[in-house]
Amino acid sequence: MTDQPSPPHQPDCLFCKIATGDVPATVVRETDTTVAFRDINPQAPTHILVIPRAHYPDAAALSAADPAIAADVLREAGETAAQEGIAETGYRIVFNTGSGAGQTVFHAHAHVLGGRGLQWPPG
Ligand code: C5P
Repeated sequence: MTDQPSPPHQPDCLFCKIATGDVPATVVRETDTTVAFRDINPQAPTHILVIPRAHYPDAAALSAADPAIAADVLREAGETAAQEGIAETGYRIVFNTGSGAGQTVFHAHAHVLGGRGLQWPPG
């Protein structure tokens, strides 16, 4: 037994299940508080999602409730970009927040995108 409390999970949340290993994913990095895995529908040659193990519905809720874990997610996004070799050429960290912005999974996640030229403004 560990005396660390389990992070809050939501039973029907897909990314909670990826965080616990109950749903498979191609994991590229893990920490005590975060998991980084390849997006199943990549929008760029490198497309990785970084999630907190704890369940929060979006990045705003995460940062309001637990700024230290929000910082962990951002740091891991940068570490993932370096590990994937896209830090030199440039990459994008995206938090879609709300269905109007394209969010489809309501467990906070950072998209890390790179490996091709990225247009601005985004669509
Ligand atoms: O920002 P948004 O909520 O739309 O991002 C969810 C992402 O989760 C999508 O890019 C989708 O391809 C990805 N996904 C995944 N593995 C799953 C289900 C969704 O990588 N099993």
